[in-house]
Amino acid sequence: MFNYSAPAQLLKDKTILVTGAGDGIGRAAAITYAQAGATVILLGKTVQKLESVYDEIEALGAPKAAILPLNLESATEQNYIEMTNIIDAEFGVLDGLLHNASILGMRTPLENYDLVTWEQVMRVNASAPFYMTQALLPLLHLSSCASIVFTSSSVGVKGKAYWGAYGVSKFAIQGMMEILADELENTSNVRSNCINPGATRTAMRAAAYPGEQPESNPTPEQIMPLYLYLMGEDSAAENGRTFNAQD
Ligand code: NAP
Repeated sequence: MFNYSAPAQLLKDKTILVTGAGDGIGRAAAITYAQAGATVILLGKTVQKLESVYDEIEALGAPKAAILPLNLESATEQNYIEMTNIIDAEFGVLDGLLHNASILGMRTPLENYDLVTWEQVMRVNASAPFYMTQALLPLLHLSSCASIVFTSSSVGVKGKAYWGAYGVSKFAIQGMMEILADELENTSNVRSNCINPGATRTAMRAAAYPGEQPESNPTPEQIMPLYLYLMGEDSAAENGRTFNAQD
């Protein structure tokens, strides 16, 4: 596991947006960030799941979270403008952005890959992080030390059979992070890096590997040290890198 011991209240006074905050790794990250003192904006598709995370954060006595329902498959430019305006009015700044939401699509050869599913996966996994980053950069630039964290995967580093649009979208994420990091290097206080979570016990992992024993993989809570490191100021000098949460 990535070796990092976060100081208490590492993220005090920071405002951090987490996509896909209702389930799996995003849920654990949202709660972990709140426990470290951040005000977390919970963005996701299923409002009920976001409300449950909101309640859990409240019960922990952590800073009150905010809920931002958005379906990344259908979201329009206008939705992203409105999202930015809401965050601007409420907080005036954004210190962290965790691009975590994604969908698996189908595990099938490219030769047979369904075109509608292709578009859905590319939109949620690759286009949405671009639209959102572009919309939120003005608020990130207002932070003294902002962090954008993308979520990659080992199938987005080396192409593997039957990973289809998911694999292609993760190659796109890796490229987007590197381009952005290069553009922002030395010109702003915004850094940009990738996390490869590695096999983690979530609904997505179970769907991708139905024959696997879920207990053979760590829980989302266990991989949080890297998620904390990249959001906190101890990683201020990191830019353009991909980190493995389980190394
Ligand atoms: P997960 O349990 O399936 O959770 C995915 C999250 O994304 C859910 O909160 C889901 O919300 C949200 N989401 C999906 N479609 C959305 C949409 N259209 N609009 C808004 N939100 C949407 O997945 P996970 O395993 O935690 O994965 C988190 C990240 O890690 C992903 O980027 C994944 O590719 C990456 N990753 C995971 C593993 C692993 O082993 N788990 C390995 C490598 C990389 P709803 O529940 O409301 O649909």
